[in-house]
Amino acid sequence: MSFGRVVILLGAPGAGKGTQAKLLAESSGYLHVSTGDLLREAVRQGSELGKRCKAIMEAGELVPDELVSQLVEEKNSSGRADSGMILDGYPRNLAQAEFLSRVLNGVRPKTIRIRVDEDQVVKRLSGRRTCSGCGRIYNVFFSPSAKGEAECEACGGKLLQRKDDREEVIRERMHVYRQQTAPMIGYYSSRGDFFEVDGNRSVSEVAAEIDRLAA
Ligand code: AMP
Repeated sequence: MSFGRVVILLGAPGAGKGTQAKLLAESSGYLHVSTGDLLREAVRQGSELGKRCKAIMEAGELVPDELVSQLVEEKNSSGRADSGMILDGYPRNLAQAEFLSRVLNGVRPKTIRIRVDEDQVVKRLSGRRTCSGCGRIYNVFFSPSAKGEAECEACGGKLLQRKDDREEVIRERMHVYRQQTAPMIGYYSSRGDFFEVDGNRSVSEVAAEIDRLAA
């Protein structure tokens, strides 16, 4: 397995990792690997793995490391990460970070942390709607679809709210983030090639900075 540049996007739920990872994938041609998307797809397909993960995800907890590692390895072995890879939502804890460093086998990732204020996060997550057709992400407060709360302005697909974007689950996800994922900041900043961007700005401002840092 060979890797070009590896970019890790780190940040709390609602920081904008998914949105920014998609934009960076478009501008750079790197492979976008979102463990959350891969897990949601497994749940939709009703695979064995999806069945094991569904309830855990709906409760806002982390799914077991070995299941996520399996997904990441499968994705890598597709060989499409040659030019580069963007990791979104992975690693989520120290065990995953250690596993990743073994998979990368000496390739040093660039880590970009997207920082956001906590009061922003709840609005961003509770307002988030995703198109079931093309995957485009909207927000009912900040960036609604021109076709209303239920329809995608790009493809006419139905807009859905993730089950884990309900307010009580958002609180649990923030708790899990503080306990398990925030320590990644210390882990990667002590290894160099670590950058922080202010994610409270507009999507395009943040994207421009990430483009520059990831180059
Ligand atoms: P996300 O779309 O990144 O917010 O992920 C949604 C949910 O999928 C999380 O709340 C977890 O339940 C699960 N998940 C995604 N990535 C991971 C990961 N790296 N490790 C464990 N669970 C994950």
